[in-house]
Amino acid sequence: MTGEQSGTSLLPARLPRRVLCAQVARQEQQQEQALGTVMWTSWWLWSLVAICTADQFQDRAKKIMQDTPVIDGHNDLPWKLLTMFNNQLRNQKANLTSLAPTHTNIPKLRAGFVGGQFWSAYTTCETQNKDTVRRTLEQIDVIQRMCQMYPETFKCVTSSQGIRQAFQEGKVASLVGVEGGHSIDSSLGVLRALYHLGMRYLTLTHSCNTPWADNWLVDTGEEEAQSQGLSPFGKSVVRELNRLGVLIDLSHVSVATMKAALNQSRAPVIFSHSSAYKLCAHRRNVPDDVLRMVKQTGSLVMVNFYNDYVASLAPLLLSLCLL
Ligand SMILES: [Zn+2]
Repeated sequence: MTGEQSGTSLLPARLPRRVLCAQVARQEQQQEQALGTVMWTSWWLWSLVAICTADQFQDRAKKIMQDTPVIDGHNDLPWKLLTMFNNQLRNQKANLTSLAPTHTNIPKLRAGFVGGQFWSAYTTCETQNKDTVRRTLEQIDVIQRMCQMYPETFKCVTSSQGIRQAFQEGKVASLVGVEGGHSIDSSLGVLRALYHLGMRYLTLTHSCNTPWADNWLVDTGEEEAQSQGLSPFGKSVVRELNRLGVLIDLSHVSVATMKAALNQSRAPVIFSHSSAYKLCAHRRNVPDDVLRMVKQTGSLVMVNFYNDYVASLAPLLLSLCLL
């Protein structure tokens, strides 16, 4: 039996929580008057007070989210659309108002008050040095078609002004994040072309080295370091991203690459989907010394709730990870 069930079972049934909260407040007042001191030992009442407090936080959170856009840094729905429907959005089962077996659909985005969304344009590391550019373009295409097919929900934008505008119109501002430096095929020309197609962040690597940046598997010993962070060309990629105004995303990169990019970049960077290594010792997470650099540079870590990155298998850390 949960605290909520046991708590409410001792009070009049079917009352809204707000009414119950008011009743608790009144009871508290009466008890204080009668006893002079608050000495609550009734376990069910404590449960109910906790629920009331949670309700207040939820109400406050909803109020904030109605006024301020919540921006999610990473969403793999375009990849799902490729693997499940070959990007055929007119497939009846791909209807985003009712799509079921995914984390994301339109009702869920609305329920979560998502104001802005970076959609991931991702292609696998196996495409590196092969057809990675074509496949990346196809994923940008499916994002743009989502905006066209659901104009009442999504608005594709490329600037902070565009995000504000979409939010004012009650739409989910939709932006493109290209997940993996292999997508530029070691070409600044391709990088610029992706920018013109809407790319507003580039994750410097996925889970594979590019010829110019090392990925996190270098830190687990599963792959050899090639660039010791960023190669000279990798630094020119960072400079070009800075010049264009494209965010540098450091999720998936090695610690040496994180530090090299943080030192090289003239603009704050992001981790679009990573968590804290100290709390959960997974190499996709951000270690404390890098977190200090994040603070110093005004950068941003957007927490990833994927199980492995918040619930470490190390028993000693498990209790911390669950905080
Ligand atoms: Zn990822």
